[in-house]
Amino acid sequence: MLMLQDGWTCPQCTFVNEPTRPGCEACCANRPDDYKVPVNYLPSEAEQTRLDRERQLEEVLVLLLVLLFYQTVWFPMTLT
Ligand SMILES: [Zn+2]
Repeated sequence: MLMLQDGWTCPQCTFVNEPTRPGCEACCANRPDDYKVPVNYLPSEAEQTRLDRERQLEEVLVLLLVLLFYQTVWFPMTLT
């Protein structure tokens, strides 16, 4: 009975992952689709840091794509 820890159990390797992890920490299998993060779940500090970093990375990627797009549209000569 592994009810000591909140989280989802990996269907492939039975590793218990933190609720907000999208994939298994041990084998990278995807989180089961039917798993729902508990409403009252509070991410640990390390987990929160990881989530923040992921969000920042996403913003940077979007910004880069937008910049690349505008450069391609408005300054096509600078790319060659
Ligand atoms: Zn796994």
